[in-house]
Amino acid sequence: MSLPNLIQEKYDAALNSKDLLFFETTKINKNVDGVEFEITYAPSLAKKPESDPTVEEKKKIKVNPFLPPHPTLYVQDIGEEHSVVLNKFCVVPRHIILVTKEFKSQSQPLFPGDLLAAWQCMMTAFGTTPALVFYNCGPFSGASQPHKHLQIVPLQGQNPQPPIKALFNQIRDRKAGQIYVLENLPFVHVITPLDRSFIDSSTDNEEIADYLAQMFFGLLDAMFQQLRKHATPDREISYNFIMTDQFMMIIPRSRELATLSQENLQVSINSLGFAGMLLVKTPEELASLEKHSDLMQVLKNVGYAWNPDADMEDSIEQ
Ligand code: AMP
Repeated sequence: MSLPNLIQEKYDAALNSKDLLFFETTKINKNVDGVEFEITYAPSLAKKPESDPTVEEKKKIKVNPFLPPHPTLYVQDIGEEHSVVLNKFCVVPRHIILVTKEFKSQSQPLFPGDLLAAWQCMMTAFGTTPALVFYNCGPFSGASQPHKHLQIVPLQGQNPQPPIKALFNQIRDRKAGQIYVLENLPFVHVITPLDRSFIDSSTDNEEIADYLAQMFFGLLDAMFQQLRKHATPDREISYNFIMTDQFMMIIPRSRELATLSQENLQVSINSLGFAGMLLVKTPEELASLEKHSDLMQVLKNVGYAWNPDADMEDSIEQ
């Protein structure tokens, strides 16, 4: 059976047996500096059931939900090192997780095998529907599970791209492999276009894996360079990674929770937030984001501020 059909069949069965919980949402859009932010409100996620073991037991033993994955949620292996698993708690139907078969840490970077498996899933898991890969790396990235896992969601709607793509589209004369910063974003980040003609023409998986890893590590290195210029991080570096079939982007993270002004509310932000897709669980959080004057500042709050004078200082030094 093809991967899209298998995912659909497993998804329907797991939903039916209640091993997978789908949470109804409503969405609002908010345009900020050309990015059409999507705020997803999932009130029932706030009441997410604490499944077995009980909450008290859970405090004592840390259960790893991916070792092994629940049989009803397991879809299939991809290569020798990864399995595709359905997200147990989803707000997007068929949200899948690519987990390492052996325990590896979520603080590790992505290696060629991780990137190849993610690319293959992204390109095939949902048929012709485009998809987004993301990786929440490190303790301040918004990850909840310490076992290495990437996530892949199908992109819906009329323009199935993450909202941040609008800024990528504005990079003039962009070239695959060049590393860019997006104009006006107030937080440190780096982005690079991918060479689709190279990937699509290659029939050698090892070559594709090496290419993706070269792009990833080039971007990671550029992220550290940007960080050195713009900030003085005082803690272990966490970051968010986003990949579509067009680009890769990395955003370093200073903290997990964004404080929403005035109301003492905090929301957890992960890679999807930087893709332009924010998730809230309570009416207060929704109202606060809805009336927030600048959602980019919410992201800056959990990233590292972009210092507009840093490049100037550099050119003075030279
Ligand atoms: P993160 O929070 O980014 O670390 O992603 C972990 C994902 O795993 C979340 O989206 C959870 O909904 C999902 N999850 C939690 N428990 C399970 C489980 N038992 N099986 C499959 N997915 C799970």
